[in-house]
Amino acid sequence: MTTDPRRTVPRTDDLLADPALAEPLARLGRAEVKRGVVAVQQRVRAGEVDPGAAVSAVLEVLPEVPVELVRVLNATGVLLHTNLGRAALSPAAVAALALAAGATDVELDLDTGARGRRGRGAMAALAAAVPAAGDVHVVNNGAAALVLAATALAGGGREMVIARGEMVEIGDGFRLPDLLESTGARLREVGTTNRVSREDYARAVGPDTGMILKIHPSNFVVQGFTSSVGPAELTGLGVPVVCDIGSGLLTPHPRLPEEPDAATTLASGADLVICSGDKLLGGPQAGLLLGDADLVHQLRRHPLARALRVDKLILAAFEATLRGPATPTARGLDTGVAELLARAQRLAARLAEDGVDASAVASAATVGGGGAPGVELDSAALSLPAGVARALRTGRPAVLGRVEQGRCLLDLLAVDPADDDDLLDAVRRAVAG
Ligand SMILES: *Cc1c(COP(=O)(O)O)cnc(C)c1O
Repeated sequence: MTTDPRRTVPRTDDLLADPALAEPLARLGRAEVKRGVVAVQQRVRAGEVDPGAAVSAVLEVLPEVPVELVRVLNATGVLLHTNLGRAALSPAAVAALALAAGATDVELDLDTGARGRRGRGAMAALAAAVPAAGDVHVVNNGAAALVLAATALAGGGREMVIARGEMVEIGDGFRLPDLLESTGARLREVGTTNRVSREDYARAVGPDTGMILKIHPSNFVVQGFTSSVGPAELTGLGVPVVCDIGSGLLTPHPRLPEEPDAATTLASGADLVICSGDKLLGGPQAGLLLGDADLVHQLRRHPLARALRVDKLILAAFEATLRGPATPTARGLDTGVAELLARAQRLAARLAEDGVDASAVASAATVGGGGAPGVELDSAALSLPAGVARALRTGRPAVLGRVEQGRCLLDLLAVDPADDDDLLDAVRRAVAG
């Protein structure tokens, strides 16, 4: 005789009262735990879960924190993957987020008890990292920094001179010219797609010009019969030269010789440098403005600046990124291929012991949407049967690799070595189906 499983489905209140769920209730809240309970009750009803195993099944489906976000191990070989949230934060930055979540002296001088300058620690850290900057300011993201500069310097119908070859789309349909025009600035294009000269700029600059904007093409390269004009040649035209360098390298990086950096760009004469915080800088989403003290002051005091203000959590994470140990981004860039290959071989050997078809192979990683287009970084990957890619992607944590020539490659450049055991477990689970 079979019993109707519906009769034996544990009651919601009984499950919620189980001592094993006390901790998740405190951590996640009643609504979230109840969602898990209801889901498991359905599986009991369907005969998929034994009524006696209901509580442990609930524990299994409950998330670590009450958000839908899924942790992903980035084995794509794209160091700064836009769809995975760009730069992974350093443990120091993560700790700073937790500190800043409570009440802090973010805008208070504890010595005097009076109001203090918001985020002064973060600003001081940035100024110290780029001594060539007369002053610095931080806003919500790179696009916000551009909007602030364009509004303050060329808004209200003034002109902004910009090379035709630098009118770029940064992804997902966002075109910087549209963003710039939304400020009321008029774009005065100079040069052609492939070439522009100092004379082109000089001819275009007039009484209505509010700024010259140079945008670094951070997601493509032009090759062949090309010429562009650096900030050094544009000084002396009587208008501020603003350089959007995109990636946020503060100083030159030996592995990315073509990538512009803030210190060098300022030293060569730019009045203002704009960049992102969550690309090669390796920090949280932020937009950095560095340069001439009067200009930065003007932007900081512009009414729009308040609407682009950066959050207290971000300020803390950003400061810790600058003052703390190497970021995951910096470590990924600096890890040699021999080390990566040795890691891949160790992981492959451990999987082979379990009978998994795994080997270590050479791989080519990239910086990604964060900069250095066209640059290949020598890397190493675990090579697995292509069939496991989907199970890896839908597992918890999810593992995102790339499928190439019938194999699923898990590139190790952007995977924190501390996550190697999690990676192995995920592969074992995916292979087991
Ligand atoms: C990424 C990028 C931006 C936009 O910066 P966000 O921080 O994503 O807003 C602007 N300009 C360039 C050249 C970029 O590479």
